[in-house]
Amino acid sequence: MNGYHGVSTNIKALRISALLILIYFVFEIAIALSTGSLSLLADAGHELSTFVAIAISLLAMQLATQKPTPKKTFGLLRIEILAALFNGLLLLGMAGFIIIRGIDRLQNPMEVSSLPMFIMAFGGISLEIASLWIMYKGQKENLNIRGSFWHVMNAFLGSVAVIIAAAFIQFGQIYVADAWAGILFAFILIWASFGIIKDSFFILIDVAPKEVNLISIEKELSKIPGVKKVHHFHARTLVGSIKTFSGHLVVKDMNQAGGILKKAKQILDKKHGFSLSTVQIEDENLSETDIKQLEYK
Ligand SMILES: [Zn+2]
Repeated sequence: MNGYHGVSTNIKALRISALLILIYFVFEIAIALSTGSLSLLADAGHELSTFVAIAISLLAMQLATQKPTPKKTFGLLRIEILAALFNGLLLLGMAGFIIIRGIDRLQNPMEVSSLPMFIMAFGGISLEIASLWIMYKGQKENLNIRGSFWHVMNAFLGSVAVIIAAAFIQFGQIYVADAWAGILFAFILIWASFGIIKDSFFILIDVAPKEVNLISIEKELSKIPGVKKVHHFHARTLVGSIKTFSGHLVVKDMNQAGGILKKAKQILDKKHGFSLSTVQIEDENLSETDIKQLEYK
């Protein structure tokens, strides 16, 4: 299979999933509001967030095809990160709302009819299994799809929670089970939202990528023959798997600069997988105006 075919198949899978989830969300929110089921409302909230997450993946793939301009030199790639942060905050807000409503419901229990809960949750589970099946192959090769895959996996857990609550109501008239299931699922949503918020926030404040160890890269670069000192190292995630690096190498002899740069590029691009590395080769007498505050040691 060629690359183009793979990408278009993934986009198609995401579009189908997004549409199914959106339709399901509309039904679920309507039934949650009309029955007053809190666990259904929590599941609907997650459904909305899953839809947003898949929409972000699709947007990201679209934005990646946009050409950069002299003003927007990275194109619009990082909008994906902003959108992910927004989705994380949305998820957190929904979870908070469900927990507040749930605590209120525990104090003032309300009869919820279990049949619509069963119908919605079984409908949800079949859709979720279908989505997981469609995405299973793509999630192994594409980070974006993997994120969506785990979103749907959480939705699957939400549907299971609704079914368990509906069973408690159906067979034991234990109506608080609905509130408990809603609250429990809201905590899963908080946990999921923290992951999204943390990852996107760290990228936005330019924390070095998880897999990058600047200390060991520093050692490797300073071992290149002819390199005297290294400083001003920065590594960041632009978006997704695109990592960038910049740093300065002080060399003994500027005549060797070409060979040293070649070796440095090999270490950075080939070994450590930086998509964009900028290395400044300088001699000791260079007077620099760089912000000293940005040197981490
Ligand atoms: Zn320097």
